[in-house]
Amino acid sequence: MKAVQYREVGGKPEIVDVPEPEPGPGQVLLKVSAAGVCHSDFVVMGFSRDEITFPLPLTLGHEGAGTIEAVGEGVEGVELGASVAVYGPWGCGRCLPCSRGAENYCRRATELGIHPPGLGAPGAIAEYMLVDDARHLVPLGDLDPVAAVPLTDAGLTPYHAVKSALPVLVPGSTAVVIGTGGLGHVAIQILRELTPARVVALDVSEDKLALARTVGAHETVLSDEDAAKNILDLTGGVGAQGVFDFVGAPPTVATATACASVEAHVSIVGIGGGAAEVGFGRLAYDASVRAPYWGSRDELIEVLDLARSGVIDVHVETYPMSAALEAYDRLHTGRVTGRAVILPNA
Ligand code: NAD
Ligand code: ZN
Ligand code: ZN
Repeated sequence: MKAVQYREVGGKPEIVDVPEPEPGPGQVLLKVSAAGVCHSDFVVMGFSRDEITFPLPLTLGHEGAGTIEAVGEGVEGVELGASVAVYGPWGCGRCLPCSRGAENYCRRATELGIHPPGLGAPGAIAEYMLVDDARHLVPLGDLDPVAAVPLTDAGLTPYHAVKSALPVLVPGSTAVVIGTGGLGHVAIQILRELTPARVVALDVSEDKLALARTVGAHETVLSDEDAAKNILDLTGGVGAQGVFDFVGAPPTVATATACASVEAHVSIVGIGGGAAEVGFGRLAYDASVRAPYWGSRDELIEVLDLARSGVIDVHVETYPMSAALEAYDRLHTGRVTGRAVILPNA
């Protein structure tokens, strides 16, 4: 079968032929309907030999949806042919966070060598993918897998971040979204649906700001050195109660903390090497800064239900397997609008 793999440290993604996998005991084999391309793939492909904790080659893709093709020994309660999304942050399934469905915060994944698909385990950008346990499958029902697949990360990650900020996003509050790409453009919609906050979106590209307005941002601001001042001006000097940085680079983290109000909730989601200065006098009184990772299984069910109610419109660009490398190239150069989704079996 065809798969997109990252084969060696310092290399680029490649389309290769690999053997079709067979499900072992407890595993489920999916015929992949759709697989999203996330900016984190470039983080993985930027790891040095010392930083990488899993063997190469790696089949990429941590946003996956497919139909159940076959099951391994002992798998019960799943229906062949059913359309499912894959919950990606696999954990041990048994520790305290895992018991709560928060396998993204599994206490034992590192020790046990458990990796998410596409981030260590073979991923979704392939004709078939193995899922380690049926508990990672969330039924899609009538949801279009192409529009829904980004929700497994580009939806789930901002959903998790926004949910923890809900107590401060009261009427009259402001939420700032920095970087309105794959995650950011879904974040805006989640904020509009879950909160009464005024949403201010920042990006470096006018096209991305136009997308931000299309999906519901009340205001857009160019992400430059004046951005924090412009947000303060927009909020009468008060600042934003919720700040979600989907870039996470030094200048955006600086903007994120500089525009935060008293008691703000700042989430650094993007993996851009930035660090926030936290300490008395460094940011507004009682503001908190977090660096969340992905989301829990119950939150994935919730975000899919939100999509089912028709209030989330993920903008997708689709690519056949033969054009998968073009999707990576366009994402790398900032030319994707919304999320790039690869259709390995189209
Ligand atoms: P993307 O490329 O689709 O979107 C990034 C957006 O940021 C683009 O619109 C780009 O124009 C914009 N941007 C770039 N520099 C900017 C700046 N200085 N100011 C404002 N906007 C700027 O990427 P994505 O797939 O949405 O991922 C976003 C980030 O989140 C990446 O760093 C990714 O690795 C990270 N991520 C983190 C988690 C997590 O669990 N913490 C999960 C998924 C992705
Ligand atoms: Zn991702
Ligand atoms: Zn666990």
